[in-house]
Amino acid sequence: MAACVRFTRVLAVPGTTLGGPRLPGLRRLSCSVGPGQAVYDVVVAGGGMVGTAMACALGHNVHFRDKKILLLEAGSNKILEKLPETYSNRVSSISPGSATLLSSFGAWDHICNMRYKPFRRMQVWDACSEALITFDKDDLDDMGYIVENNVIMSALTKQLDAVPDQVEVLYRSKVISYTWPGPFFNTDTNPWVQITLADGHQLQTKLLIGADGQNSGVRHAAGIQNVCWPYDQSAVVATLHLSEPTDNNVAWQRFLPSGPIALLPLSDTLSSLVWSTSHEHAAELVSMEEENFLDAINSAFWSDASHTDFVDSAGSVLQYAFTLLQPTKSSARQLPPSVAKVDPQSRALFPLGMGHAVEYVRPRVALIGDAAHRVHPLAGQGVNMGFGDISSLLRHLSTAAFNGKDLGSMSHLTEYETERQRHNVSLIAATDLLKRLYSTTIAPLVLLRMWGLQATNAVSPLKEQIMAFASK
Ligand SMILES: Cc1cc2nc3c(=O)[nH]c(=O)nc-3n(C[C@H](O)[C@H](O)[C@H](O)COP(=O)(O)OP(=O)(O)OC[C@H]3O[C@@H](n4cnc5c(N)ncnc54)[C@H](O)[C@@H]3O)c2cc1C
Repeated sequence: MAACVRFTRVLAVPGTTLGGPRLPGLRRLSCSVGPGQAVYDVVVAGGGMVGTAMACALGHNVHFRDKKILLLEAGSNKILEKLPETYSNRVSSISPGSATLLSSFGAWDHICNMRYKPFRRMQVWDACSEALITFDKDDLDDMGYIVENNVIMSALTKQLDAVPDQVEVLYRSKVISYTWPGPFFNTDTNPWVQITLADGHQLQTKLLIGADGQNSGVRHAAGIQNVCWPYDQSAVVATLHLSEPTDNNVAWQRFLPSGPIALLPLSDTLSSLVWSTSHEHAAELVSMEEENFLDAINSAFWSDASHTDFVDSAGSVLQYAFTLLQPTKSSARQLPPSVAKVDPQSRALFPLGMGHAVEYVRPRVALIGDAAHRVHPLAGQGVNMGFGDISSLLRHLSTAAFNGKDLGSMSHLTEYETERQRHNVSLIAATDLLKRLYSTTIAPLVLLRMWGLQATNAVSPLKEQIMAFASK
């Protein structure tokens, strides 16, 4: 993450420019408005997984061949010259829909040539009861893929480098302010968004795409309200060695009263841990002896210490009722693998929170990725939502470009906002509800969620709908 910058919301005085030195490395200018200032058709601010994928998608789109696109990233180039032998502790569960987007501009092939692990089954279960839900693919399709974030970034960067005439990239370029076009602009004044970099360079764009993460400076400078709250949890991540090799094609998640613990497959012998728990417990987990850490993980997956006789009896009755109603539909419970070793230096923690921008667009501005929404990792959907934003925005911008429309116009930006908010709000709300519902051991709520999980598991059409939604 870039160091925190304070963004001032600078309002442009019509007819003025901020001046400043000319940007080095400019290959061509789309048009020129202020002295020494480049004007781009699209500037993507923030080159994380989402911003880089957006720049790639635009750069490889046929309707953007004659457009000038710039990606600005505060950090450095993330290409992997050589794939490290050790797996990274930062991984993402990538949905089939996201893989399709990455394939559309050639990045998925690079991922396949580096490394990734498909999974075919998901098992989610409650530590306070016997309730469980499984998601299986009847056919040979994959349910999703576990990919290291640095592999995704490297694949995207390679595909950006493949379109140097379409997309310029400026690394180590931190934006420090944005200036919006004034309300009464006319042909004599500057109608574009002006961007000032930390080194004093200035440029302008007809459309600014904010992909600058959860503390988005674009969102802040545009004055877009962000509904957000921190969770009382941090996620502990680590790379784990299994006790013995397995097919390892199941993603496991168990809801403990302190938070969900997930084991995501990386290879036949390795899995990635994402354990969301209280901040204090997370701090203990990252600093404890390796043996104690491994015992804590194995016990979190295997122990029935949170069960009560009352809930177990009620659960058995319910399960019996569901079996009577749908005798062939019961899903076999599988046992998760146990873990024997943790990669040195792989333990790290990340404080968790939820956030949602009330608006995703303003004239000449669109937000995507964590700049627009931040979710709890229990659903493994954060970056997938960002990739979904890209698919939607790209479709609307591509049509606008084809029809010769102004890319920064609200007419198609609003369509993007409506489409994505409809999807993202329901996902964020469901994730937040699950987080709260599973953070309690109060018997009526345990019964309620047990019934909910068992019922959902028994009703195939409902499960299929959930799978279809999550695979987008
Ligand atoms: C523990 C954990 C597990 C997760 N697991 C999953 C998962 O399994 N599946 C999933 O889909 N999601 C997952 N997520 C969520 C996912 O990691 C995020 O949603 C995703 O990384 C967001 O990407 P982004 O590009 O939008 O933002 P970021 O990664 O935050 O990128 C923002 C970029 O903008 C740049 N930037 C910021 N400010 C400026 C500036 N002023 N000027 C220039 N550049 C700037 C930064 O340098 C950065 O590179 C997980 C998250 C956590 C914490």
